[in-house]
Amino acid sequence: MTSRRQFIQIIPFASTALLAYHPAFAADPPMVDEKDPQAVALGYVADAARADKAKFKTYAEGQNCTVCQLYQGKAGAAAGPCTLFAGKQVSSKGWCVAWAKKA
Ligand code: SF4
Repeated sequence: MTSRRQFIQIIPFASTALLAYHPAFAADPPMVDEKDPQAVALGYVADAARADKAKFKTYAEGQNCTVCQLYQGKAGAAAGPCTLFAGKQVSSKGWCVAWAKKA
């Protein structure tokens, strides 16, 4: 049985844990690092203007994450999830070779 003293000692940790997992207080997922091996393989850049046009010939002006089929960020958001990078966010202005025109 938990004593009153033990209960009082647990409260700060329990409160912190609850806040960490509550959606309203949860931190945004981390941004994809351009140096991440998966990002490098896909030619991901946080700014489409820096896409390696010599290496990725499919890049065309106007392509970026915002207008990509795989982008799941909210309209107007600076960043959002991409189905290729689970648990992370990509820049809405980003680009990678898997870009596919949003339907
Ligand atoms: Fe951006 Fe689309 Fe590449 Fe994901 S798949 S990083 S949304 S261009």
